[in-house]
Amino acid sequence: MNWISNYVRPKINSLFSRREVPENLWTKCPQCGTMLFHRELRDSLNVCTSCNHHMPISPRARFASLFDGGIYTEVEVPEPVLDPLQFRDQKRYPDRMKTAQKTTGEAEAMLVGEGEMGRTPIIAAAQDFSFMGGSMGMYVGNAIIAAATRAVARKRPLILFSAAGGARMQEGILSLMQMPRTTVAVEMLKEAGLPYIVVLTHPTTGGVTASYAMLGDVHIAEPNALICFAGPRVIEQTIREKLPEGFQRAEYLLEHGMLDRVTQRSDLREELITITRMLMGMKAAVKGDLPAPGQPDRLNALPAPDSAQQAPRADMAETDEPSAPEPEKDGRVPMGRVPGTS
Ligand SMILES: [Zn+2]
Repeated sequence: MNWISNYVRPKINSLFSRREVPENLWTKCPQCGTMLFHRELRDSLNVCTSCNHHMPISPRARFASLFDGGIYTEVEVPEPVLDPLQFRDQKRYPDRMKTAQKTTGEAEAMLVGEGEMGRTPIIAAAQDFSFMGGSMGMYVGNAIIAAATRAVARKRPLILFSAAGGARMQEGILSLMQMPRTTVAVEMLKEAGLPYIVVLTHPTTGGVTASYAMLGDVHIAEPNALICFAGPRVIEQTIREKLPEGFQRAEYLLEHGMLDRVTQRSDLREELITITRMLMGMKAAVKGDLPAPGQPDRLNALPAPDSAQQAPRADMAETDEPSAPEPEKDGRVPMGRVPGTS
């Protein structure tokens, strides 16, 4: 016991331990290997600043970047029966659920929120791929029905962000039942004349692609997202043929008429504002009038108020199906809240 061991050594240790870099400060881009600083990655919405690779983003981070000021209220989703089949593979289904809840901090694989996006009231639902592969079980079915019901009750458009490996096998036939259930939910929106916009993110596969993810009035995908029913490997093994370059990727599907747009994550909000306002028969957002988040310079891309109301953009005309809403007076937001009219 002396001055060196009691005072100097702890002091030195504390100096050095403070300089240790926490492990989660950097993320390696899986595409190009660039090390990205966490703050930089958060600001770019999980898109690699070096190669533009779109990494997964959590529903909460998605909503924070979508809604005005990142403010939204969560829409409650009815809890389904847990583990009705008493399913067990290597692990019991309830144990898998607990692990997923612990690692993601979420109750289930879908989050539903309501709020305003560019002063446009909307309902949004986002699927969480990090929660058991975003798999569609009874909860996801309930979430989509809750979102559609709320959208109809409040006369708001529904924007859905899909990301899933397909149906949740632990729920067997009950997960497959979510395909017709969610289809009926989408039909409710169409009957009410409300827009349903789907943003397909990497990956959207299986029963999700075969139901609600492909029933939108407008389909937008993030760059290079894999969108398919059966994956390329399965198809290649079945037909024993080499598949073309970029098969089932967003750009390939856009070229082959399966999608309306492929949009950078950073431009999504602005584009969704333009599309929803157009489909709801509202005035286009005025440059510089939209609240944060959103880069002011990107608002230049929005059409002028007059041109958007009278002449929809040519590339959007094809998506203007009969299901697009009649511009009903009571379907609109109070005019006082429309930019430029107050
Ligand atoms: Zn990269």
